[in-house]
Amino acid sequence: MFDETAATLARARRVLAEHVLPAVHRDHRPLEVTAWRAPGEPVPFTEAAVAPHEPVGPGTPWGEPWSTWWFELRGEVPHEFAGAVVEVVVDLGFTDSGPGFQAEGLLYDSNGLPLKGIHPQNRWYRISEQATGGEEVHLHLEAAGNPTLYDGTFRPTRLGDVATAGDEPAYRLRRVDVAVFEPEVFALAMDLDVLLDLAEQLGAADARRHEVLAAVADSLDLIDVHDVRGTAEAARGVLASVLAAQARQSAHQVTAVGHAHIDSAWLWPVRETVRKCARTFASATALAEDYPELVFACSSAQQYQWVRDTQPDVWQRIRKAVAAGSWEPVGGQWVEADGVMPGGESLVRQLLHGQRFFESELGTRCDGVWLPDSFGYTAAYPQIAKLAGAQWFLTQKLSWNDTNTFPHHTFWWEGIDGTRVLTHFPPADTYESKLGGADLHRSARQFAEKGRSRQALVPFGYGDGGGGPTREMLERARRLRSLEGSPSVRVGTARSFFDEVREEYAALAPVWAGELYLELHRGTLTSQRAMKVGNRGCEALLRQAELAWTTVVVRGLGQWPDRLREAWERVLLLQFHDILPGSAIAWVHREARADYERMTAELAALVDEALALLGGGVLNASPFPRVDVLDVAGQPRLVQMPASSVGAPAEAPLARPVTVDGRTLSNGLVTVTVAEDGSIERLVDHVHGDREALPPGLRAAELRLHPDVPARWDAWDLDRPHSRTWSSPRDPVLEVAESGPLRAVVEARFAIGDSTVVQRTTLTAQCPRVDVEVRVDWRESERMLAAYVPVAVLAPHSSAEIQFGHLRRPTHENTSWEHARHEVMAQRWLHVGEEGWGLAVVNESTYGHAVRRSATAAGEPVTTVRLTLLRSPSYPDPDTDRGEHVVRFGIVPGADLVAAQDHGYAAHLPLLGSLPSQPGSEALPAEPLVDVDEAGAVIEAVKLAEDGSGDVVVRLYESLGGRRSVGLRTSFPVASVDETDLLEDAGSPALTGRRALVGWDGEVARLDLRPFQLVTLRLARA
Ligand SMILES: [Zn+2]
Repeated sequence: MFDETAATLARARRVLAEHVLPAVHRDHRPLEVTAWRAPGEPVPFTEAAVAPHEPVGPGTPWGEPWSTWWFELRGEVPHEFAGAVVEVVVDLGFTDSGPGFQAEGLLYDSNGLPLKGIHPQNRWYRISEQATGGEEVHLHLEAAGNPTLYDGTFRPTRLGDVATAGDEPAYRLRRVDVAVFEPEVFALAMDLDVLLDLAEQLGAADARRHEVLAAVADSLDLIDVHDVRGTAEAARGVLASVLAAQARQSAHQVTAVGHAHIDSAWLWPVRETVRKCARTFASATALAEDYPELVFACSSAQQYQWVRDTQPDVWQRIRKAVAAGSWEPVGGQWVEADGVMPGGESLVRQLLHGQRFFESELGTRCDGVWLPDSFGYTAAYPQIAKLAGAQWFLTQKLSWNDTNTFPHHTFWWEGIDGTRVLTHFPPADTYESKLGGADLHRSARQFAEKGRSRQALVPFGYGDGGGGPTREMLERARRLRSLEGSPSVRVGTARSFFDEVREEYAALAPVWAGELYLELHRGTLTSQRAMKVGNRGCEALLRQAELAWTTVVVRGLGQWPDRLREAWERVLLLQFHDILPGSAIAWVHREARADYERMTAELAALVDEALALLGGGVLNASPFPRVDVLDVAGQPRLVQMPASSVGAPAEAPLARPVTVDGRTLSNGLVTVTVAEDGSIERLVDHVHGDREALPPGLRAAELRLHPDVPARWDAWDLDRPHSRTWSSPRDPVLEVAESGPLRAVVEARFAIGDSTVVQRTTLTAQCPRVDVEVRVDWRESERMLAAYVPVAVLAPHSSAEIQFGHLRRPTHENTSWEHARHEVMAQRWLHVGEEGWGLAVVNESTYGHAVRRSATAAGEPVTTVRLTLLRSPSYPDPDTDRGEHVVRFGIVPGADLVAAQDHGYAAHLPLLGSLPSQPGSEALPAEPLVDVDEAGAVIEAVKLAEDGSGDVVVRLYESLGGRRSVGLRTSFPVASVDETDLLEDAGSPALTGRRALVGWDGEVARLDLRPFQLVTLRLARA
């Protein structure tokens, strides 16, 4: 049967697209346009405005990849436009890709004042509300020829680096006009848009759908497609009553928050993000003048800082908007960082540097963490967020899960320490809604808490590459404030949303405990290995540098270097959720590698400078004591041995040297036998009754090369089937490379796939850790390299170090939730064990791990730890990770959790300073600046206070998951001790109910710590 409502809908869509929308602007008159291509990188307006421009017109090719073209627009408003609304309309030759993924521009007036951004969904600039005719038009457009690297599919491309992108223009200028804007036609377009969206979402039997479409049909009857302008008012008249019908009282309530997700680097380099921010922020402040109800929520202090430093006019507009309440700084972080890989101190600094920027520059602190797009969230976050002043947490990324639907949208998220933070996942499953019917009704339909709560948040505005809200979105919001059949939309702040939710629902909200694991993008723990190495390395160096310089300052030997703040802020930027995860274009990672190299050198020099000022001595930046022994064989070298080393008392001179017997190395603590292919075929823990660590017939540190062809997102995803097949080392050659009493090394050389590997197994005197180094010349594509460590234990769970603690994860796959966690994050170590015995795998800079249980052919239980060493995706960087890599990890048989931590820190924090050269002597580190008397309390940072007071700030945490009373003492005179939040504020309400400091007697500060409690102390020097 003929479906009249469906026909009305289809006809109305066509009339809207082909007749009404094109009639919004009329009488287009081309402006005179001249152009200048800036050579190389972007230049400021002052330089561009005086550059020699050439005449251009429609059809002119422009936009070589990553080029900048400056267009100068001149003309006047025709006299026949008198009385009309007049706008400039620009089409740079836009493609079908969305805003932010192609050409875009920033419009300036003739004096260089930035006006607004121009992109495919925002092509206009208003010249006059009521023209008199004859007004001069003189504008400049800074246009970026950004190539399209994503159009819905991922094809490997060389366009992702200016060095390889070529010089072929990607665009042809289409139109630069002055035209009349017809407000009534625009209003009709928006009326139809909202009603058609509504009708589409309502069921076929819904009377409201029929009512709406009957009104639309009447309206269509009145529209003369040859004279839309002349018939728009009448056509709107018959829509008025259906638009006036109010929403039901139970309607889903959406708080629409204006937003522009701007990736700080992704399919564009950092320098382009600086300009994306300027365009988007200029647009948002301009739009708020036309739509005073607009609230624009904006995260990332770094992006504000870029605009402050490059676009002072836009910056002043932002400051005014913040003061006026139409601009809401959110998130409180330096950038929207990856949510799992940054170390604990890094996550703290994201908030510390971010909140301090917002406070000093904009007079406000953010009240929640805003991370809509990061790839999963560590179970340490609730505590970190709370202690940095956050009252709420927002993301929607888990809607991308490939296996399980997350059961809540509004809930309390509980971290490893028991801290809970009110969390919301916008049920529309997007951070860049256009406020169309599909998004709003999806929000209502999916909202898991309905019946108890009616409130959901919807961020709206073009995102990823920026763009932000448009006038169309705000017109929709106005019509949807209260509309029968539709969720109700109120434009507001995130703060107001969470305030209301807290009032309405907090007491009833469900609880989710543990990590927010994203069941997707598991490959980002591995892709672009140099990011992982750089991040981990810089985190360790920053820790060392801060401790060394705090010592320098406290001893009165020098001034705190400002370079530390700059280094931190660069490291924080590189933790952005497409840089550290390795999912950006080649250009981004090329620059990031250079940044990491530069910072590594600078920070190392800074540490050396501090040590020179300290006048020698040894500095131990690990939270665990070190005992160091000199070689007695005439070789004045130092062994750095973690003091926790199981069963290894300090012995000097060396009592038990390393012995080598063929392929077998022993140091009295462990015996390790290396197989022909460089893997470990036998590992015996002599400290614990000569226990065999490996299951019979299985080998540890065994390399496997797996196919790695994800279904969709190359750099992002590590799909499950990859582990079913693999190839193994070929043609191995094995030799003993070193056999001194201090250290013995067995080296295997072999080929695997198209790559070659040198795998070295090292055993050191008095240390139970077996060190493995894998040197790879990596020549693969769509393959990944993993190292397997099967352990003869029945481990019900693994314990992985996360930020400020560790996380237990089941090793079984009973439920779809565990099944989906086939690749998990560990920081420095991962431990598996059973009652009385365990084994730790420590890594130098590997984040991706898998832990699974199995059995040998004879039925013996096996728990296997896998480290994911390297991947070779081809999008977005076609050459990802090809080349030379060195991967190091260690196996510690017999380790408990304390030993796991100790060895994890030891792998990153070598002793610093001039080591003594007297054979047989012990080199004990200088007296530590700050020390605790319990192994389960770990000092993570020692630094000077951010406020310049000279106070020393010490951050520590309970690391084993228990309660303990801890004494902290210093080797410098202290006048007073205060407990503070992460922002170093002693009076913080965030400390209510969680103060750990119970006493200070002038020498020892006493702390009662709860499991995984994070504590910051401020020590005023005497
Ligand atoms: Zn993003």
